[in-house]
Amino acid sequence: MRDFSSDHRWLSLNTATVRKQGDLVAIIDACARHGIRAIDPWRDQVAAIGLDRAVRAVRDAGLELSGYCRGGMFTSDAAHRIEARDDNRRAVDEAKALGAPCIVLVVGGLPQYSRPGSAASKDIVAARTQVHDAIAEMLEYAKGASMPLAIEPLHPAYAADRACVNTTKQALDICDELDPQRTGALGVALDVYHIWWDPELMPQIARAGKDRLLAFHVCDWLVPTKDILNDRGMMGDGVIDIKSARSAVEAQGFAGYSEIEIFSSDWWARPMDEVLRTCIERHRTVV
Ligand code: ZN
Repeated sequence: MRDFSSDHRWLSLNTATVRKQGDLVAIIDACARHGIRAIDPWRDQVAAIGLDRAVRAVRDAGLELSGYCRGGMFTSDAAHRIEARDDNRRAVDEAKALGAPCIVLVVGGLPQYSRPGSAASKDIVAARTQVHDAIAEMLEYAKGASMPLAIEPLHPAYAADRACVNTTKQALDICDELDPQRTGALGVALDVYHIWWDPELMPQIARAGKDRLLAFHVCDWLVPTKDILNDRGMMGDGVIDIKSARSAVEAQGFAGYSEIEIFSSDWWARPMDEVLRTCIERHRTVV
């Protein structure tokens, strides 16, 4: 396991962590101030300043990307299927322009929440089938652009509105079905917030292996959690054994960035420099 205690060269900042404190240009400037080498930007943050400007800002700052957030929201009714497909193709094109190593996929829950305006459904089995088929379709386009897809399993609390792929096993089953040769085109983004509770986590990380481990996200699980979406903890403030998870993915050969992704009304209310200083300190001590 890599030693993070003396520097933060393997820290990447998911830019949603400070999304309320400034736009993407301000966040990139802050990363330069703090010696942060990599980011994972969100599509809306890129759109807000324009793709060309985002590409220039990333390049001028010498930043790497650890991913691009996000593709997915595959579940919809028939009337919204083309919209979902085309939206994901644009995400691939943007990721390519930005030099991302992969697109993080949040696959969608029930259609009416994933693609608003879709007819309501309670059929989560059908939603999962749709996710499988839509990833297969997106994979063809993404392969053409040499852009790997990283399925992020989300905590089951999000099954209705964000993702009906809720365990690492489920995500890896899709990978094995659609990319049995392990070409590197399809894998998983493992976020400790979503997976820490899973009794099958360690064997599934071993099953994933280096080929499938495309991204690793960290934050913490607060007790009690006041808001399932926007009350993520700073690493070290909650109950997740982050070092064990990192040790397990690194034992498989994962050698990429440890990406900090905190959606938190608490941390969004603090100055950007204070948040980044804290991220760096916790990255050295508890990640
Ligand atoms: Zn994540």
